[in-house]
Amino acid sequence: MYSVLDQNIQYLPGVGPNRARVLNEELEVRTIGDLLQCFPQKYIDRSKIYTINTLSDHMQYVQLLGQIIELTEQGNGRTRRMEATFTDGTGLLKLVWFNQLKAIQRSVKLHKTYLLLGKPTLFNGSYNVAHPELDAVDNEHDEDRFTTLRPIYRITERMRRSGLTSNVLAGLVQAVLKQLHAAELPETLPDYIVREQGLVSRDEAIRKIHVPDSMQQVPRMEERLKFEELFYLQLNIANYAKSRTIKYRGFKFATIGSYFLRFYHEVLPFELTGAQKRVIKEIRRDVGSGRQMNRLLQGDVGSGKTMVAVMSMLIALDNGYQASLVAPTEILAEQHYTTLSRLLSKVGVRVALLTSNVKGKAREAVLQGVADGSVHILTGTHAVLGDMVQFRNLGLAVIDEQHRFGVVQRSRLWIKNEEPPHILVMTATPIPRTLAMTVYGDLDVSVIDELPPGRKPIKTLHVYEKAPEKLIQLVRNEIENGHQVYYVFPLIKENEKLDLKNLEKGFGQICELFPEFRVGMLHGQMKNNLKAEVMQRFQSGEYHILVSTTVIEVGVDVPNASVMVIENAERFGLAQLHQLRGRVGRGAEQSYCLLSTGYELSETTHRRIEIMCETTDGFRIAEEDLKLRGPGDLEGTQQSGMIFDLKIAHITADAPLMERAREMAIRVVDEDPRGDLPKNQIMWKQLRLMRKTNVNWSAIS
Ligand code: ADP
Ligand code: MG
Repeated sequence: MYSVLDQNIQYLPGVGPNRARVLNEELEVRTIGDLLQCFPQKYIDRSKIYTINTLSDHMQYVQLLGQIIELTEQGNGRTRRMEATFTDGTGLLKLVWFNQLKAIQRSVKLHKTYLLLGKPTLFNGSYNVAHPELDAVDNEHDEDRFTTLRPIYRITERMRRSGLTSNVLAGLVQAVLKQLHAAELPETLPDYIVREQGLVSRDEAIRKIHVPDSMQQVPRMEERLKFEELFYLQLNIANYAKSRTIKYRGFKFATIGSYFLRFYHEVLPFELTGAQKRVIKEIRRDVGSGRQMNRLLQGDVGSGKTMVAVMSMLIALDNGYQASLVAPTEILAEQHYTTLSRLLSKVGVRVALLTSNVKGKAREAVLQGVADGSVHILTGTHAVLGDMVQFRNLGLAVIDEQHRFGVVQRSRLWIKNEEPPHILVMTATPIPRTLAMTVYGDLDVSVIDELPPGRKPIKTLHVYEKAPEKLIQLVRNEIENGHQVYYVFPLIKENEKLDLKNLEKGFGQICELFPEFRVGMLHGQMKNNLKAEVMQRFQSGEYHILVSTTVIEVGVDVPNASVMVIENAERFGLAQLHQLRGRVGRGAEQSYCLLSTGYELSETTHRRIEIMCETTDGFRIAEEDLKLRGPGDLEGTQQSGMIFDLKIAHITADAPLMERAREMAIRVVDEDPRGDLPKNQIMWKQLRLMRKTNVNWSAIS
């Protein structure tokens, strides 16, 4: 059905082809319907008019009523600008414009009364406003102007240059709303959901979000629109997860047998933590259910995820299946191989390693063993295992450090199988719960929220690179007490020669500083077998200090290392700093993390270092990270790229609403798994429409 909402924005009076292009490119607004989906960021109470003498520094947008008494052009070339002096009788305010100077010159009239809207900033003791919006007040009795709430829309610089100010946008929206009758803003949620959730209708919500009668009613309108947005997001995920479980039955691991039990009673070198036990139980329940398991295991660095993986793989073996453990780096794959072989040879489990290092005859032997089932557990990197390995019967695939993999790769791994294995993905990147629900919404989530006993929190100190005495002292002390040290340099792009030079220079300096100790060096450009050798020497204690790039960031486990020095710590993000720090503090003794920086730090960098020194709690760090950077940047969420074009809801601030939307979506899908209940038709139609128009959504389904 053709609707006004589908009309091209270009034909709206006041738009035209040029502005249409700008709207399209800046806000992805193509139709009138899209325009109505650009919601105000905030509202200015138009009845509130401030005076210049009451302005203060922390004020956001304010309205002032007064006159311009002077207008001049200043500067030249790139500094050219218009400046004006504005007064309301209580003081003076400077106004500045950096572009559209001609238009300003033409339109601004001296000694005329204007209603000014802008954000005052304090500069050299007096206030000024850049790019104020000016509304000529022709008629002092123009009541309406001073009584309504004024919506403020997000405007980009380019929009401003085309005259698309917040004010103009508000005018366009209001013109459209006046024309539309109620039937033209149709409901998109089934009646029963609107009723049950106590929401206002879509028509009312959209009208009043743009033109509220009072501030008090805004939250109700927002609730409706946010719920709708989050609901469809969750419905998409729930629907996807459901169709997968209908499609894929899973192997049923009915028994716990001698591999598991012998390992548990005779080999396990420590008591499992309560959290490890709980998670193993959750996994047992999943793999015993006859449905394919898709479980995400989140556990902070050092919380002991590997052991959970080992015990889960033993359950697969007990039921006559093979298992695999996939790692994101060669170093980590090799380490897993060493750990697994050491632990599992005692119960007769055969483990093999497949990386690009394993070549020729050795490689053939591994592939043969995997194919005929004489290899029970295969570990390796994703690149290798994803290729052409043919298992006899793979029952469980564990994927370590999942944040390195995108969703697409995750599914590729099991698509090769006719019958999919159970999947356990593990990550140490703590993701705030609401995000996990969305990014990994189709997975069940287990959390290890407890560290093995006796761990002392890592002491984190900020040191300045120009004053390294404290650092040198500590490193020396620790090594003399039998411990080892990591020394990490940032290489942002590993393939840049210059960065490598930095590392080599750093290596030289450290050798000079500590002539009595043995120092090794590790970086991504080394040949794989050399990497493995260096790692081995550090592991065995031959090297006291390992100078390295972030290749050791993920998963590496050398419990005897007690100091992590991070050079140029200002160049790392919080998540990365936390991962790196997690390489120490893995034994019972006190460990240290030294963040070395220059003296001059930006405010956010300073805050990052501060947070690192304050806490070792990965979840708290993730929350702070989210606050500092916004969700789009959060490590591990970009690849999944499916959620962050939310128009109105906020991924963390609206957590409770997200929870509500998720519950509702899961209920709907359970009740109507094949989408044929009449009452839901309007909803499935809407979902199909959204999938068609939202490219990112189709990526996961
Ligand atoms: P991560 O969760 O970061 O992968 P690991 O699995 O590498 O952590 O475990 C970190 C260290 O803690 C390892 O040296 C491991 O042997 C040890 N560990 C794991 N579980 C326990 C436990 N229950 N008690 C004592 N030490 C443990
Ligand atoms: Mg690990």
